[in-house]
Amino acid sequence: MSITTDERYRLFIGGERAEASTGEYLTTEDPATGEPIAQYAAATAADVDRAVEAARDALNGWQAKQPGERGEVVQGLADAVRDNAEELARIETLDQGKPLTSSRRAAEGLARCFEYYAGAADKLEGKSIPAGEDALDFTIREPYGVSAQIIPWNAPLNLAGHGTAPALVAGNTVVIKPAPTTPLSALHLAELFDEAGVPPGVVNVVTGGAEPGAALSGHEGVDTVSFTGSVPTGQAVMESAAKTITPVTLELGGKNPAIVMPDADLDEAVSSIAIGIFSNAGQICAAADRAIVHESVYDEFVERVVEWAESMTLGPGEEDPDMGPLNHAEHYETVLDYIDVGVEEGATLETGGDPLDGEGYFVEPTVFSDVSNDMRIAQEEIFGPVLTVIPFGDRSEAIDIANDIELGLTGGVFSRDIKTALRTAREIDAGSVYVNQWFGGPLGAPFGGVNKSGIGRQMGLEGLDSYLQTKNIAVDLTMDEPDES
Ligand code: NAD
Repeated sequence: MSITTDERYRLFIGGERAEASTGEYLTTEDPATGEPIAQYAAATAADVDRAVEAARDALNGWQAKQPGERGEVVQGLADAVRDNAEELARIETLDQGKPLTSSRRAAEGLARCFEYYAGAADKLEGKSIPAGEDALDFTIREPYGVSAQIIPWNAPLNLAGHGTAPALVAGNTVVIKPAPTTPLSALHLAELFDEAGVPPGVVNVVTGGAEPGAALSGHEGVDTVSFTGSVPTGQAVMESAAKTITPVTLELGGKNPAIVMPDADLDEAVSSIAIGIFSNAGQICAAADRAIVHESVYDEFVERVVEWAESMTLGPGEEDPDMGPLNHAEHYETVLDYIDVGVEEGATLETGGDPLDGEGYFVEPTVFSDVSNDMRIAQEEIFGPVLTVIPFGDRSEAIDIANDIELGLTGGVFSRDIKTALRTAREIDAGSVYVNQWFGGPLGAPFGGVNKSGIGRQMGLEGLDSYLQTKNIAVDLTMDEPDES
């Protein structure tokens, strides 16, 4: 598994590498330099047909396995990821741009995710429903069939596995469609899976842009679609899935509020929020985008978070800096445009805002103060290293600001007072709320959004619900009792 700039990656269909039907290739580049890394096959709708057919053909064999056997195969994937963690981390850093330490953490997180779901394989129980003495009623949980996994470019290694693991243990087969700027980790994973004994066709990978994504989400042979990405593409996925009445799980964007109360431990709030917004150069759906800070500690918070931002090292991910580049040229331009918008809207640019001289898609960690919640930089997901800091006077105003937004993925509150912290956590409209930390929660915690941030949950036992449907079985037990007279 070595990467060279002239290597060509083919699709992975039915356990084999396959050319795209057109024979065409696209290029993926190193975001730290803008230089090409490798070419990969540009899948078309016809290639998606082949991948879905392979996944359908593999369904019977996969579902015929004992649940525990499926669990063992998925445990084998955890082991394969761990055994190849360094290689996978380097691929992720090269293709996505993130610092090596965070790619290594991602590889370990992926191994743990497979492990977690491997253990659940033989515990996917139904329930019995009281039906009286003349009847028996119970449910069984059945796989949907073929699961499409359409994933974005910000965390391609983890996201290739987060839906695949529960889908597999539940008895589904999978077609993964990675994003066009980060195709490599899913292709490497598929090969590892093959070596680890996943039967041919159980996991397939089609690479390319919108065409294979759209073909997959509207495909008659796909039984459930899990999409992680932007709101507009999520809407398109939902529309095309509507034609075939295919269920969708949508993990979409965030513009997440972090409320800092006057009694917060400021060290904790500053470090958590800085890590929350600058990790992966802000390209995290759960990022701490909007710091909503009480006016009594506002100036001190801004001063300290600016110090934090200015102390950060930037560089190519393989040098393991604090922050790497943005993932690709178009996104880099978008983030720089948002910084201009912030200045035009009248926010104060406290630090950052500039690209780095030289090659690659680097943007400095950026902090805006004097932000009001109706500004575009407070309402729209920038998905870059740009923190907006908004003042508030009392707790109800903080909640109003936090919830005055169309999205609702994560949120957070910093307070030393338990009642304030927990009431505020309950009142923030979001799928996950962090208290006195950011990016909290164990592996088993469900993750997903409210409002326009999505539908359904990934991770945890709830994450299995996207891959299992309930069948109810009703049995008549009435008997003609023998006449004993
Ligand atoms: P995107 O919506 O542009 O693309 C996501 C995937 O959809 C890619 O694989 C893309 O090729 C594919 N696609 C494009 N057009 C399609 C179509 N018409 N039909 C089907 N698929 C299509 O998103 P992105 O720019 O790659 O990722 C960034 C977004 O992802 C951000 O909004 C971020 O918040 C979100 N995200 C959300 C989560 C979460 O868990 N909620 C996690 C990571 C990223």
